[in-house]
Formats: sequence, structure tokens, C-alpha cells
Amino acid sequence: MGRAGVLTLTVLGCDGSHAGAGGAASGYLVRSWTSGTTVWLDAGPGTFANLQRFCDPAALDAIVLSHEHGDHCSDVAGLVTAARHTLGWKRDPVVVLAAPGVKERVGKEAEGILDWQTVGDGEGRTVGGLRLDFWRTDHGPVTLAVRLEGDGATLGYSADSGPGWALGALGTGLDLALCEATYTKDHEGTAQHMSARQAGSTAKAAGARRLVVTHRWPTIAAEAVRAEAADAFGGPVAQAAVGRGYSL
Ligand SMILES: [Zn+2]
Repeated sequence: MGRAGVLTLTVLGCDGSHAGAGGAASGYLVRSWTSGTTVWLDAGPGTFANLQRFCDPAALDAIVLSHEHGDHCSDVAGLVTAARHTLGWKRDPVVVLAAPGVKERVGKEAEGILDWQTVGDGEGRTVGGLRLDFWRTDHGPVTLAVRLEGDGATLGYSADSGPGWALGALGTGLDLALCEATYTKDHEGTAQHMSARQAGSTAKAAGARRLVVTHRWPTIAAEAVRAEAADAFGGPVAQAAVGRGYSL
């Protein structure tokens, strides 16, 4: 990790839909090392603490918030408080690319710190050396999956979704699919989320080269989810864990 020409993904939190004991909910760092671009992708509880292990919060180029559920956005409040009282904030506001409804939930009193921009289905933005494109998934409030391209590599992030949406919506050529797999197949239909089987199937159909499953419910065994996803994907699958990093 960390050399020019490489896009990296670092897991800051991967529990769904709440943080388990000592854990953190959804959050990731995506970095283009050629352009020096750093994006905080979802900000679930516990992820601001972990983010500070890997980067200076004042060096963030953008924050992406996939939807308004607290397990994906609540830690933005931590950044705002730290910027105001701890970090000696002397920079332009950080661009926040958020699904509709997120700002209303966590965006209050962030003037000078956050530059809120609402993005929607089918929209795209450029942040430094990264191209980001958004698609709506099969989830309760408007939820946006993200395709991130930089340093000649492509990452696809499902955000939260039920099985009514497919990773293939993010296009072809995904070097790594970061897909939610909240539980195993015996729980299918109990919530608007994917099982590991469904995550593996949609990643295979999308032609993704690698699969990392995430958003595991804290009481579901990690190895059961990983093995079920690998069986459906037909190739190696990693189970996200805090601090784990991937080079694309
Ligand atoms: Zn979630």
C-alpha cells in the first residue's frame, strides 16, 4: 500500500447495521496515491476513531455518505467537533457528497468545515484523481452505490442493498467489489440486505476480479459469511475487518 500508481482501500469499520462490541460500523478510506487523493467512504460509528490511525482528517479531499442510516453517517459529527476544537482547522471545507436526506440528519452546524453537496442516482463527480459515479440500490431510504476509478483501477461499493439490485449496475471491469453481505442465506428475506450467497452471485455476474464482503451483522459468524460468499463467487473472497487494506 501507499505507492504511486496504486489505488488502496482501507477498512475503518464493517459491522452492519450497528457496531458490535469493540467494533465499528461501515466506513472505508479510498486513496489514489498517484494524485494524493483521500476519500472517506461512509462514516459509521467508530470509523472516525479508526480513520485517525491512517490519515490526518484535515487532509481529506471528500467524504461520501451513501445514505441516511446512522450506521453509515453518524461519525461525521465527530469530525466536525474535532475540527472545531482539536484539529486547528485551517483549510477549505471538506466536500461531502451525500445521498438525499443525509444532511438533514447529520449536517447541522458545520459551516466552514463541511461543504454539503447532494448527489443522486446516475450522477458523477471528480475528486482530485478519483472519478466517482453513483447508482441507487435496493434499500429503504435513497441509498447510493459508488464506482470509484483512479490510478488505472476500479472499485465498486454496494453500500447497503437488498437482492433487487445488482453490482453489474456499476459497470464492467471492477478490480475489487466491496459488497454488503449482512448475513447467511438462512436469513434471506428478513431485511433489505444481501446474504453472502447473494453477494457472491452478484459479484460473479458483474465479472468482478476480487470480492470483499462487509456489513456483517455482529452476531453472524465471519467465516460462515466468507465461505458462503466464496462458494457463490467461485473464487477467493475476503471478509472485511477493521484495519485491513487492499491494493488494487
Ligand atoms: Zn447499514
